[in-house]
Amino acid sequence: MRLSALALRQFRNLGSQELEIPPEGVALVGENAQGKSNFLEAIYYLETFRSFRGARDEQLVSFGQDVFRVVGTARSGPGENGAVEIAAAFERRGKRKKVSIDGKESERLADALGCLAAVIFSPADVELVSGGPKERRRFLDVVLSLNEPGYLGSLQEYKRILTHRNAALKGGESGTAVAAWDPGLVRRGAEVVAARKRWIEGSTGAFGDYYVRVAQEARAKMTYRSSVPLAGAEAVDAIAEAFRDALVDARDRDRRLGTTSVGPHRDEVVLTLETEDGLDLRDYGSGGQRRTAALALRLVEAKTIRERLGSAPLILLDDVFAELDEGRSERVLTVMDGEGTGQVLLTAPKEADVRLRRESLVRWRIREGRICT
Ligand code: ATP
Ligand code: MG
Repeated sequence: MRLSALALRQFRNLGSQELEIPPEGVALVGENAQGKSNFLEAIYYLETFRSFRGARDEQLVSFGQDVFRVVGTARSGPGENGAVEIAAAFERRGKRKKVSIDGKESERLADALGCLAAVIFSPADVELVSGGPKERRRFLDVVLSLNEPGYLGSLQEYKRILTHRNAALKGGESGTAVAAWDPGLVRRGAEVVAARKRWIEGSTGAFGDYYVRVAQEARAKMTYRSSVPLAGAEAVDAIAEAFRDALVDARDRDRRLGTTSVGPHRDEVVLTLETEDGLDLRDYGSGGQRRTAALALRLVEAKTIRERLGSAPLILLDDVFAELDEGRSERVLTVMDGEGTGQVLLTAPKEADVRLRRESLVRWRIREGRICT
């Protein structure tokens, strides 16, 4: 998949511009604070309709303006084949977001999600490894929402029921009133857990391979640690049963705490090195090891998309080599090339950072939000 055209209007500091993007991609070079990350943020917005940096939509509208708009043309085949136009706009005053595909407005965002397939690599990704369980759950939820049919629906429904159940617990409602939410919670929760577990177990091998190829040290692995004692349960029904039992066991504690203490909203993805002592990367990994593990997670995300689409996603690299040593940066690029990367859009503050194989990419410059092609 590639992005062939991009039109921007009042997105962050980017002003109004229309760009044609070369099939192999582009390297965007510019000093700090000129708008490089904003550019990638605008592109990624067309995939998930959210900021990859966790910014609220209001923050994406240029200062002093009311509306931003981003329109991109994604192509899935060679030449002019398989073009789809994705447009997103947000109005600050009315807090209204509009998304359309080929000019037809999508009533539900979920329908337009993932029409553009891109993976973004950014220095902040290290938080996927260093940060709390929430960061890794969010990563899983995004990957699965985009790639696993039905996942987003199960997750949204789970969250909705969980909110009701927690309100009932907090409000000191009767045991029966609380338990009324359980069948739905258990069903949806089990669907979420089953999909997450399946993805983690199916991906840990690739994660380990990517890690070892970049780091050239011990392999790494990822495991899903459920807050529900699963005892080997894999199928949705079996997980649902285990979840039901866990809710019963936690009944008194949940009442006391006024919240639901078990379930996928409390689950964890653990990243460890396969050394003798199974070193947990979050607690003991070096900066470089964590960054490498984060890169490996993104590479697995790209692989998941590639397997779904049968073609490579766009690769967005936001100044990612700045903090990796020379050897690791080189090996990341080798791994990416080996996977048959498609279009690459990368940013760097200095010409010298546009390294190695990427020498061949067309250079664009950016200054105060204006891109010179
Ligand atoms: P670095 O190399 O430091 O990462 P960058 O080129 O990636 O820099 P960006 O994060 O893309 O920089 O852009 C930052 C600039 O965008 C800041 O100067 C900031 O003031 C400006 N900016 C952020 N949000 C808005 C907005 N809503 N409206 C106008 N300008 C904004
Ligand atoms: Mg930046």
